[in-house]
Amino acid sequence: MPMSQDAAFLAAVVKGALDGIVSIDERGRILSFNPAATKLFGYAPEEMLGQGVAVLMPEPYRGEHESYLRNYLKTGEAKIIGIGRQVEGRRKDGSIFPADLGVTEIQIDGRRLFIGVIHDLSERRRFEAHLRELHTDRLDLIEHMSVGLAHELKQPLVAINAYLNVLRRHLKEQQIPAEKGLDVLDKITQQMFRVSEIMDNVRQFMTRGSTDKTPHHLNDVVRTACEFTDAIAKEAGVTTTVRLDAKDDLVFINKVQIQQVVVNLKRNAIEAMHGCQTREMIVSTRPVEGDMIRVDVADTGCGLAEAVRSRLFEPFATTKPHGLGIGLSISRSIIEDHHGKLWAEDTAGGRTLFSFVLPVTRA
Ligand code: ADP
Repeated sequence: MPMSQDAAFLAAVVKGALDGIVSIDERGRILSFNPAATKLFGYAPEEMLGQGVAVLMPEPYRGEHESYLRNYLKTGEAKIIGIGRQVEGRRKDGSIFPADLGVTEIQIDGRRLFIGVIHDLSERRRFEAHLRELHTDRLDLIEHMSVGLAHELKQPLVAINAYLNVLRRHLKEQQIPAEKGLDVLDKITQQMFRVSEIMDNVRQFMTRGSTDKTPHHLNDVVRTACEFTDAIAKEAGVTTTVRLDAKDDLVFINKVQIQQVVVNLKRNAIEAMHGCQTREMIVSTRPVEGDMIRVDVADTGCGLAEAVRSRLFEPFATTKPHGLGIGLSISRSIIEDHHGKLWAEDTAGGRTLFSFVLPVTRA
């Protein structure tokens, strides 16, 4: 029998629909199964026609469906029909997927039929799960960065405090020439500037997931970082030798971060020499094979404690009563983010040596 225009139009819509469309009779037997339903459930239409629709549902829907349909036919009380609901579908291979189900009731030639439209929600659920994961990752990152920030800000604040102590001492003794006083104030300003640079870096990282890298001469960066710790080294009675022997020292870095690493290593070295008779620190740079530049921070301190030796670069590994145990872990992440390496060793001369290498850039 030739199809009417309306019927042909509807058949085309059902055939081309992206959602599964399945019609059933009053007893739940399948009357039609469109191509999208085949794709969704894995059954061919000929396998499904005449079958109970419950086969497309996992438990508990499967068991409940028949009584639900019966109840609806008796009382007219709808739970899905005309309302829509999120349900689960069961594929031929037994796997289960989330779906939106909309059901419409129609009457044809005195028969009541139900048409179900099934919209696969798997992709959306995967996307939502991914978003949740991203959100959790971001929270983890922010938590990690807050601990890091507390650690990194401590150094300039300690330095500012040390400079203020110097200034206070000299002013008390009334023996400070204006020039010297101004010099100490400049150093304080420099540390305040450093605080704001560290904050900027963190903000950049939080919004962009990375920080700016530009070409710098590593010797200059190390020299400035050494100046930052001068005051605390002096206060701790540590003599510092700086040997910047690397000639080819252009590196592509985030200056503030590499300074942070040098400062962390120097601060640890100073702390490791607390109470030692000899308190000497050597900071040096030199070229090494493979177009790399190496920075060493050596000290004559207590040496690496066995308790943390194997976990030095893990977060929260510390032997200090008030230590956060985060400095070396941050430092290693920074160096690795710059395609370099950071490690520690004891030297034959009884010194503790922390070293890192960075690739030299030709740009
Ligand atoms: P924190 O200084 O807060 O403890 P770090 O991650 O910077 O955190 O250092 C972790 C641990 O590594 C220190 O507690 C210390 O035991 C050890 N360490 C770091 N530098 C040295 C060093 N120069 N000499 C001896 N031990 C060191």
